[in-house]
Amino acid sequence: MRLALIAAGLALAWASNAAAEPVAVTFDDVPYLSLTAALDYQQTTTRELLAGLKHNHIPAIGFVNEIKLEGPDKPQRVALLTAWLNAGMDLGNHSYSHISLTHTPVADYIADVAKGERVTRALMAMRGEAPHWFRHPYLETGATAEARTAFESWLGEHGYRVAPVSMENSDWVFALPYDDAVLHGDKADADHIRRSYLDFTAKVIPWYQEAADDVLGRRPAFVLLLHASRLNADSIGELAKILKADGLKPVPLHQAMKDPAYAIPDPYIGPDGDEWVTRWSLALHKPVPWKALPEPAPEIVAADARLDDDLTKTAAGQ
Ligand SMILES: [Zn+2]
Repeated sequence: MRLALIAAGLALAWASNAAAEPVAVTFDDVPYLSLTAALDYQQTTTRELLAGLKHNHIPAIGFVNEIKLEGPDKPQRVALLTAWLNAGMDLGNHSYSHISLTHTPVADYIADVAKGERVTRALMAMRGEAPHWFRHPYLETGATAEARTAFESWLGEHGYRVAPVSMENSDWVFALPYDDAVLHGDKADADHIRRSYLDFTAKVIPWYQEAADDVLGRRPAFVLLLHASRLNADSIGELAKILKADGLKPVPLHQAMKDPAYAIPDPYIGPDGDEWVTRWSLALHKPVPWKALPEPAPEIVAADARLDDDLTKTAAGQ
């Protein structure tokens, strides 16, 4: 009996925290953001990430880039998406090829987003479900009023709503250096990067809570942006503890989106990919406390820039 109680206590008991504030946990670049496209690496990442989410009772949504399913092993890559649905997670659209709305004519952008739902919509239809959420790559929502209106009209006509981001921890900056360490079998370096990532997360999440206090005058239901990375697969238990320590309780995205903060008209039209605290700040004329925003360690930022550059050159065939 006592052993069973201890075992039950190992997973986080979110429900016991009555004063908890809601947070929707969302993952971009599904099935993976990684230094390598190797199938076995992505299978491990997906399996461990989903196991961690289930173990910690986190109802997440993954935003898919279907370009990452292409290739000779497409069925096995599609199976990565099926694993998300089998784990009880939701899936949304993140465009086919992760393109920029700022730098793409809107008709081409719409074509890419439409192409980006083919597999996901078919998989969900088999379960009587459909994708309902779109996350803009780079959070770019339209450089002109015409582009923004045209795209958002298309979204509405196709049953989508925009998934905002109101909390993030720059996880993508740490993700590639972590992959690099894991792929080289450098456990000490991987541990160092993961520790740096968790320390940064523990500092930056309270910043978003305090920024919301400043801008909205209260804490909304947050929408946390993460990416489908090995780093997060290996960190999800500790991330869950950080959320709990900050009084946050994971809820499905549609539940968080009932918060009236997301009904505040978003006045931003322009080229930048702004988070929602910036958009609320513009709408409500309240300053964001940017000076207090923590930053990831410089050596991690430099390592990410180097690896990202290598990845771009490889992709371009250089
Ligand atoms: Zn993305």
